[in-house]
Amino acid sequence: MMQASLLGKAFSRGFTSRAVDGFTGAIGNTPLIYLKKWSEKTGCNIVAKAEFQNPGGSVKDRAALGVIRDAEERGLLKPGGTVVEGTAGNTGIGLAHVCRARGYDCVIFMPNTQSQEKIDLLRMLGAQVYPVPAVAYDNPANYNHQARDFAKNLPNAVWTDQFDNVANAKAHYLTTGPEIWEQTDGKVDAFICATGTGGTLAGAGKYLKEKSDGKTQIWLADPPGSVLHSYIQSGGKLVERTGSSITEGIGQGRITNNLATLVNDIDGSLNIPDEKSISVLYDLLDTEGLYLGASSSLNVVAAIELAQKLGPGKTIATILCDGAYRYQSRLFSKKWLQSKGLQDAIPDHLKHYAVL
Ligand code: PMP
Repeated sequence: MMQASLLGKAFSRGFTSRAVDGFTGAIGNTPLIYLKKWSEKTGCNIVAKAEFQNPGGSVKDRAALGVIRDAEERGLLKPGGTVVEGTAGNTGIGLAHVCRARGYDCVIFMPNTQSQEKIDLLRMLGAQVYPVPAVAYDNPANYNHQARDFAKNLPNAVWTDQFDNVANAKAHYLTTGPEIWEQTDGKVDAFICATGTGGTLAGAGKYLKEKSDGKTQIWLADPPGSVLHSYIQSGGKLVERTGSSITEGIGQGRITNNLATLVNDIDGSLNIPDEKSISVLYDLLDTEGLYLGASSSLNVVAAIELAQKLGPGKTIATILCDGAYRYQSRLFSKKWLQSKGLQDAIPDHLKHYAVL
C-alpha cells in the first residue's frame, strides 16, 4: 500500500489527496513575485509576496488563523464560541472567513473611516459589524477597547487582540518568514514593510534575522501620521500622532506587543508620502498588471528606496498585502483622489486608469 505521506493528506471517507484542508489549508504559500521594471532600474532584485492570493484576500489571513488557533489551543475558544476583534478591516475579513470555516460567530469593531467595501464584505461573511468613531488609542471609545469590553461581557467569547497578542507575529514567524527564506534560496539581503499591528514585520523579520545570523536587514516603512519612523530615527522616542495617510491598515501610534518582539533589532526605517504610494500603485498596474491596495504600493516604494540606499546586487523582499478591489472606489476615483489633494500624484500617462 502506498504511504499516505506520499499521496498527501487523509480526508474524510478515506479520501487521500494533495488537496489542502478547507479555507484554512489554503492560507499561505503565496508566490514571491519578481518586480522586473524596478529591479532593472535599481540593479537589485525586488521581490514581493503575493499576499492578495490568500483565500480571504490579504496578508491578515495568516494572523487571523494564528490568533484563532492560539485561542483554541489555550482553551479560550470552544465550539459555538464567538470571536471578537477590533480591526481596520482585513483582519476582520480573515477572521470572518475562518470563523465560518470553524463554526464560530464573529463580531467586528472598526473605525468608521474605513471603506464601505470592507464593511459590506464583513457583513456578507456573516460578521456582526460595529463601525465606531475613529478616536485615539488612549480614548476608552477606541475600537479596540470596545472589542475587548464586548468580549468580556459575552459568555464563551474571546477577544483575539491582534495588536498585542503575539500569536499574530508567531504566525508570520512560522510561515511568511520561512517562505521568503526558501523562495530566495536564503539570499535575502533585506526585508522591508509597513506595519499596522507589527505582526508581519516582526514575525517574518525575526525569522529572517535568525536564519541569516543577523545578516538580513529588517527595515520598517511608515506612512504619514504614524510615529514609528520617528521612533526608530530618534532611538526610541514616542511622539504624538500628527498628520494622516490614505493608506488603510498601516501606521501606528504606539509600540504594540507584536512590534516589540523585534523593534530593537530593526535596522532602519523610511517614511513614504502618499504621493509616491499612489504613483507606484498606478505604475505597478501599468507595468506588472498588479492591481493592489495602497499599503502594497507603499511597501514597493520603500523597497525601491532601500535598493537605492543599499546599492546594486542586493535582494530586497517586501509584501503585497492585498488587492485594490477593497478600495477601488477610492484609489481609482479621480474625485476621491482630488478630495485628498492627490490627483497630481498619478503620472500623466497613467491617468486613464482612474476611471471612477
Ligand atoms: N496592509 C493592509 C492592507 C492591512 O490591512 C494591514 C493590517 N492592518 C497591514 C498592511 C499591516 O500588517 P500587520 O498588521 O501585520 O502589521
